[in-house]
Amino acid sequence: MSGSRTTLCALAPIVLLASGPAPAAGVFRARRVLISAGAWVRDFVPAWRLRVERQLMHWFTPPGPGYGPEKFPVFMFEREGVTVYGVPDMGEGLKMGIHHGGQIVEPDQVERSILPADIEAIRSVSGRIRGLEGRLPDESVVCLYTDSQDYDFVIGERPDLPGMFVATGFSGHGFKFAPAVGEALAHLLTGKEPPVDLSLFDPGRVAPQA
Ligand SMILES: Cc1cc2nc3c(=O)[nH]c(=O)nc-3n(C[C@H](O)[C@H](O)[C@H](O)COP(=O)(O)OP(=O)(O)OC[C@H]3O[C@@H](n4cnc5c(N)ncnc54)[C@H](O)[C@@H]3O)c2cc1C
Repeated sequence: MSGSRTTLCALAPIVLLASGPAPAAGVFRARRVLISAGAWVRDFVPAWRLRVERQLMHWFTPPGPGYGPEKFPVFMFEREGVTVYGVPDMGEGLKMGIHHGGQIVEPDQVERSILPADIEAIRSVSGRIRGLEGRLPDESVVCLYTDSQDYDFVIGERPDLPGMFVATGFSGHGFKFAPAVGEALAHLLTGKEPPVDLSLFDPGRVAPQA
């Protein structure tokens, strides 16, 4: 629904409660429901072993020509146990971040301002890119990863609540799989066999044993 947003506020077997701008607010009934609430998923699966991790993205002004996609690669490297990723300047600056290793947080209480330690962390590795030695990012933004213990996705039906499907635990690498995950979820929600084997993503890994 463009221009408005509904907040899912409670869930019970086959009854879904939502609050939000009219006409979305109200009680909806469904045989199957999918929860894909990102960092807020634990509002719906509080007992599942998932962690929310504070992460930073940074943008640097390129020090000169040659940092655009025609020459500069998407990259990822590891140095002394720290994994660094980045993408070329697409007009907004050279983007860089540290993959994992962030503070474990509650999504509604996360520190959204940029701390000196955040800048120091990226400065300590950004100098590996020629031309960025000693430079500070022009802009930094806080975002959140939702991690499973093994960093693999968690996709499937809640064992104790049939009909409630959950897609979570994307652990900082879910975006690129969105079309395939969406297709698999569409099959699950319509009672069909998904086109890919989802056993690797079994919620039983993170759900408490019955
Ligand atoms: C800095 C950063 C860099 C990343 N880089 C990459 C990358 O290079 N490649 C890659 O593959 N992945 C990347 N990811 C990971 C990717 O973005 C996530 O894996 C993916 O977005 C997770 O999808 P999701 O649907 O679980 O959660 P989200 O994309 O967070 O979507 C959840 C949605 O649910 C909404 N919501 C929450 N609670 C409620 C509620 N109660 N009612 C209604 N709506 C609600 C939220 O507002 C949100 O819109 C990155 C993530 C971050 C933070």
